[in-house]
Amino acid sequence: MVAMSQDVITRLAEVKNRINRALEGAGRDRTEAELIAVSKTFVAEEILPAILAGQRKFGENRVQESAAKWPELKRRFPDIELHLIGPLQSNKAMDAVQLFDVIQSIDRTKIAAEIAKASRISGRSVRCLVQINIGLEPQKAGVEPALADEFIQDCIHNQKLNIIGVMCIPPLGENPLAYFEALKEIAKRNKLKEISMGMSSDFEMALAHGATLVRVGSAIFGTREKN
Ligand SMILES: *Cc1c(COP(=O)(O)O)cnc(C)c1O
Repeated sequence: MVAMSQDVITRLAEVKNRINRALEGAGRDRTEAELIAVSKTFVAEEILPAILAGQRKFGENRVQESAAKWPELKRRFPDIELHLIGPLQSNKAMDAVQLFDVIQSIDRTKIAAEIAKASRISGRSVRCLVQINIGLEPQKAGVEPALADEFIQDCIHNQKLNIIGVMCIPPLGENPLAYFEALKEIAKRNKLKEISMGMSSDFEMALAHGATLVRVGSAIFGTREKN
């Protein structure tokens, strides 16, 4: 356990260095992008070293798994910001709004409406990103790129959601560059600040192409058995 937590601290520092170098290389300021440490499948005691090392933004892909481990950590460290980066079912909207500070996976009108309703009822103003199915993959969640502008504007003006950006997961095993550029264009057209793209294998390229949020899991916490 001691050795493991040291590994997390070392790898977290390495990832942060690589982020800073990538930003510098792209002529961007260090404040222009932030690390979301993706802690899915890892338990509280594996996450704690990263928190103690100063990491405050975390990503999870399952509402139920997060409800089991994050409330206690958030009580101990109230400035933690928790991002939902996985698919959301409408019957979990209230749980999601109460636990998460940012929901990155808004991808259909029913979910947008449920999140808006849960926010109103609970009085919690959750920030949201619209997930774009940037590679048009049938098995992946997200709004079709061609419908993105219309969906984003509907979320903002009709659903009254606080949409701060867009998110994508490019097709596995392809060069993500064109997908990163396409996501950046959608953000720009809709005047959205946050561009969530880049994972362990490609976050430096994402940062070179405008990412403001990178979601890095295995490069920090180690390889996962599932997910
Ligand atoms: C798991 C996950 C990540 C992190 O993936 P790594 O390759 O472990 O860095 C990022 N984004 C989403 C949506 C994920 O589900």
